[in-house]
Order: sequence, then structure tokens, then C-alpha cells
Amino acid sequence: MRLLVVEDEERIAKAIKRALELHHFAVDIVSDADSGLVAAADPDYDMVILDRMLPGSMDGVAICKRLCDQGVDTPIIMLTALGEIDDRVDGLQAGADDYLQKPFAMKELIARVQTLLRRPRHTLGTTLTVDDLHYDPVTFTATRSGKPLLLSAKEIKLLSYMLYNPGQVVSKDKIINHLWDEDALVIPNTVEVYMGYLRKKIDTNFPDRPPLIHTIRGFGYRIGVMDNV
Ligand code: CA
Repeated sequence: MRLLVVEDEERIAKAIKRALELHHFAVDIVSDADSGLVAAADPDYDMVILDRMLPGSMDGVAICKRLCDQGVDTPIIMLTALGEIDDRVDGLQAGADDYLQKPFAMKELIARVQTLLRRPRHTLGTTLTVDDLHYDPVTFTATRSGKPLLLSAKEIKLLSYMLYNPGQVVSKDKIINHLWDEDALVIPNTVEVYMGYLRKKIDTNFPDRPPLIHTIRGFGYRIGVMDNV
């Protein structure tokens, strides 16, 4: 999953990026309101972390409203240093999905991000499940048929992204745009290589179980049992 951080305080922005990257998210940073508004409308972002007070022609609340008017439905967590109840209400009324007051613990931000990412389709507990494959996005652990899967950081990113989009055909370009930040140079072949590793661990190693990763030639990949995808 790839997140956008709109934050003008470089120290905070970098600390957020580091913390999120440790949790297998790709992160881009922009530091003013106007580039924030443009970047946040990019559908390749799975979430936006938006500071309320920003240099530029508008504040975070106005950015939220503009995104909402444009029909952008990417989840937004608003950060604020003000902390009064009215600010919270303003932010949420403008369309933010959650709100965090500075200073905050990174642990708290990560927890909010993970909760919000699960919200649309995964309200029943924390684990993402397809057939007998279970993935816990909080502990980054996966099992199939009750056996633990030893996955690399890249494989975890790939598996969780697929599981957040169950049954959908996901293109290699989309995978690149959601898993790597804008500084990374990634080619479609890289996706094929990692998908190959993942397939071996979750399908090839379980020959008695239905395969879960399907290549849709010319389009991309789909995760699920073939009957119900
Ligand atoms: Ca600020």
C-alpha cells in the first residue's frame, strides 16, 4: 500500500515516512498545500496523511473539502497541532476519516492507518483471509492450512495489497504504483519475479489446496479461489 504524507515540517514528515516504511508501506512526501491537493487526488494513493496547517493557498481542511468535491474517496487522516474540539469537528466535517493531534506516538498513527485501511471491506476482525490463507496486517504474519509462511518484506507488501483487493484483477502497473514510492525504479518484470516467489510459497508448496494466485494474461493478477473470483 502506498501513502501520501502532506506535511511541511520536514522532521515530522521524515519520521512518519520511516515509521510507515518499517510497516511495509511505500510513502511519498509533499510539503505544501497546493502540491498536496494535486498529489492527493492521484488514485494510486491508498491513504493520505494530511497536516492541517500548511504553507500555500489553503489549509488541510480546505484540501479535504476540495478532494471531497472532486469525488476523491481516498481515506484521509488529518494531523493537527491545534487540538481543540472545534478543529476536530471541522476536519471530520470536511471529509477527513480520522484525526490525530500532535504530538502523537508513531505507534498510534500506524494503528489508525491499519484500522482505516481495513474499514471498507474487512470489518470482521483484523485478519485478511482467502480460502485457508490468513494474513494479519498488524503482526505481518501469514499462514496457509495453519502453517506459517516465511515471507520477505516485499512479498508481504505484495500479498497484503492483493488481499486488500480480493477477487479483482490488479495490473502490474497498479502493483508498482501502490507498492513502491515515486523514487523507486521498478519494471514490470520485478513484479513478475516477486509474484513468482509468492506463488511458490502460497500455492506450489500446497499442492493439495486450490491455487490462489491467478495470472490473467495481458492484464495482471487476481487472488482468490477460482470458483468465486
Ligand atoms: Ca504544519
